[in-house]
Amino acid sequence: MGNPMNYTDPSGNIPIKYDPCDDLTNENSGVDKMLEAYGVEFEDAKPDDSWKWDDGVKYHFLLGIESTARKIAKLIGGSTFTAFKTIFGITPNDQMVLTAGNCPYCNDQGAFTYSPRDIRFATWSTTHGAMNGIRHRNHLVHEFGHAFNQRLVYTTSINAYTELGKYRRSNPGFPDRTPLNCEDGEDSCTGPNFGFASRQNVYTWQQSAVETDGEEFADQFLGWVFDTWAHNPEGDFRKKFMDDYMPCWIGKMTGLISGECNFENN
Ligand SMILES: [Zn+2]
Repeated sequence: MGNPMNYTDPSGNIPIKYDPCDDLTNENSGVDKMLEAYGVEFEDAKPDDSWKWDDGVKYHFLLGIESTARKIAKLIGGSTFTAFKTIFGITPNDQMVLTAGNCPYCNDQGAFTYSPRDIRFATWSTTHGAMNGIRHRNHLVHEFGHAFNQRLVYTTSINAYTELGKYRRSNPGFPDRTPLNCEDGEDSCTGPNFGFASRQNVYTWQQSAVETDGEEFADQFLGWVFDTWAHNPEGDFRKKFMDDYMPCWIGKMTGLISGECNFENN
């Protein structure tokens, strides 16, 4: 630890080396340099708001950004920084802004993706102890699923939620999530995996308990980034959808693929 950081051109193909043990409170820390290279800014809604980013959450979010970027770069090539910025439409004049607070659409809970580059958090998925980092990271990647769909619609007119909905209806046995009925305040109440890598109402690999196409897609985006699913036929079903569609959609977004992306009933 304590090596000087090796900062290289973010547009190039050589990854920035950083030391996660750098002083996170230093604004020139490795974490902040990395976030800058990805074009991601953190904002507190207002200076006197008690709800603020802390350095631990920022670091966990950076892990979510890097994981997402790596997955996309594997498909389209180039650096992780360029891949991430390309897919989410980030430019020097249009950075991705993650805001703690000022989220009327959040209804005091969770986050809302206002646009691909404007994601606001009323709370973040959290618990006690060692799972915190994974839940923070996964919460952000779930929101990236919503941001991804907005970019997909904007760049190709394809709507991933609609496509997933069609697929759910035309493939009997697809592991549709169903609403969870718990007594009020019963934290230990959980539902099945539905093909995801953790149970419903645990908020690790199902960041939403809701069964809409949009929430199922955002959780599938999370599963796809980490290639992490339930080890059973239901998990295979969700994995297959994402492994079929995502490379084609990303190819169309970036102009690498021009044909149809239709894998229904395969
Ligand atoms: Zn969501």
